[in-house]
Amino acid sequence: MFDTLSDRLATVFSTLRGKGRLTPADIDATAREIRIALLEADVALPVVRTFIAAIKERATAADVSAALNPAQQVIKIVNEELVDILGGETRRLVFAKNPPTVIMLAGLQGAGKTTLAGKLALWLRGQGHAPLLVACDLQRPNAVTQLQVVGEQAGVAVFAPEPGNGVGDPVGVAKSGIEFAKSKLHDIVIVDTAGRLGVDAELMQQAADIRDAVDPNEILFVLDAMIGQDAVNTAQAFADGVGFTGVVLTKLDGDARGGAALSVRQITGVPIMFASTGEKLADFDTFHPDRMASRILGMGDMLTLIEQAEQHFEADQAEEMAAKLAGNDFTLDDFLQQMMMIRKMGPIGGLLGMLPGAGQMKEALAGVDDRDIDRTAAIIQSMTPGERKDPKIINASRRVRIAKGSGATVSQVNALVDRFFEARKMMSAMAGRFGFPGARTSNR
Ligand code: GDP
Repeated sequence: MFDTLSDRLATVFSTLRGKGRLTPADIDATAREIRIALLEADVALPVVRTFIAAIKERATAADVSAALNPAQQVIKIVNEELVDILGGETRRLVFAKNPPTVIMLAGLQGAGKTTLAGKLALWLRGQGHAPLLVACDLQRPNAVTQLQVVGEQAGVAVFAPEPGNGVGDPVGVAKSGIEFAKSKLHDIVIVDTAGRLGVDAELMQQAADIRDAVDPNEILFVLDAMIGQDAVNTAQAFADGVGFTGVVLTKLDGDARGGAALSVRQITGVPIMFASTGEKLADFDTFHPDRMASRILGMGDMLTLIEQAEQHFEADQAEEMAAKLAGNDFTLDDFLQQMMMIRKMGPIGGLLGMLPGAGQMKEALAGVDDRDIDRTAAIIQSMTPGERKDPKIINASRRVRIAKGSGATVSQVNALVDRFFEARKMMSAMAGRFGFPGARTSNR
């Protein structure tokens, strides 16, 4: 799911990585690429239009922190807009003041309703509730038996018509189910309804009749994420025919392009509440728009890093640093200060692990830890202010003194000084080309 979209977005962002600042042409090109990526992922056209307009407007207005470089700014904007089209805040179930809470499921046949009934029941049971499953899908052969099987797996009770009894009267079964729940003190009733292979009037009417009979607190529309563009039409038909208060996306584990997930909220105005990601009852959870967005971006925890960078790096501080890098007057004091800023952001291993692509660098990262930073800091702190400002004066006897003062070996001091010169050379060469935070201003 979302693999193609994630790949394409990653390519879009990587073309921005070398930029000092975003020109209007960059913004246009980026918006065009994101548009293609979304259309390829089967996102509905009106949703794509709104999305792109928002991205363009915000990128043009530079509506983000100056502590971020252009690539990070665009990632941040795209992320926030993704969260927005996915529904913003996580939407939780609303429970009835007077139990039982009635949750009705609706959707096409094969969407995963019956499986979902079991998943939801298990999930609710895990939270201390006592749900009852009510089998109102009396159309599909075996639907009742299937619900009994998932009920057993989930360890919850199932209310179903006796064979030959009540068959063909799903409304009657629904009503008796609610009465049964009250008498047995079930605090939640999950009503499974019949689906058809396609949308039809009779199906809608039956669902609407059940709805009127049981007055549900929540009507969950179960949507197979694999059905692509059709998802939007199906959702619209159920919204008009039955109405619903929440969407459940199923089969998110499948090899789909993800357009349904990205369109359904915007098209229907109803939030996605749950996500189903496999055939097992445990493959189910609350839908979190923010987590889904970062999963689509495939950015690992790059977004967390961006957030932290914004919190810890003051824009003017960053610009001052960028100017120093470009001018080759970066000193060991600045080096120490930068290291300390990074150190404040959290354990260095975790921090590096948040960078995109860091997965492949695991081995290299294993060697980096906080003790390296602490040792480096100790070595720099054992230098005199003159030495930190002009490291060229650090001769052999000074190195011995610094090593003694910091508890490091002379070769560790040598390595640090070499690394500093090397880094300074590299950084001043790169400062112009790569958008270091704040480097925009120094490049103009
Ligand atoms: P219903 O007709 O809407 O009640 O659909 P079912 O619950 O019978 O599900 C139809 C098929 O989809 C079954 O084979 C389920 O095992 C499968 N299924 C349901 N949810 C998921 C899911 O999240 N992932 C995958 N891979 N399969 C699912």
